[in-house]
Amino acid sequence: MTATLQALVLHLADTASSKISISSLIGIDRHHSDGRAVDIRNAAIAKDLLPAIATDEMVTTLSIDELIFDASVAHEADPNKWNYSLGKKHDYDAATLAKHKDHIHFAVTKEK
Ligand SMILES: [Zn+2]
Repeated sequence: MTATLQALVLHLADTASSKISISSLIGIDRHHSDGRAVDIRNAAIAKDLLPAIATDEMVTTLSIDELIFDASVAHEADPNKWNYSLGKKHDYDAATLAKHKDHIHFAVTKEK
């Protein structure tokens, strides 16, 4: 995994009040296969973790490229409440959200 991703994972572990559980570092999509993405399996911590992470300031600080999670799982009215793409707030379609109900996907930007 890249140094940027390592820094993100350490920050997530620090921020979460309970232990985070990493389900996938390596995967088939382009970000996972690049070592730039991580999936956090315990989606139950979303409500605790994401308000502190899914802000423009933290997304920039942590070099987050993508953040995908269906916030309706955490009883939020807006399922895209915490989502980012290319470092900007982004509304994913229903098909993408459907794949991100049981884990939180993070990808970081490419290292310069
Ligand atoms: Zn993922």
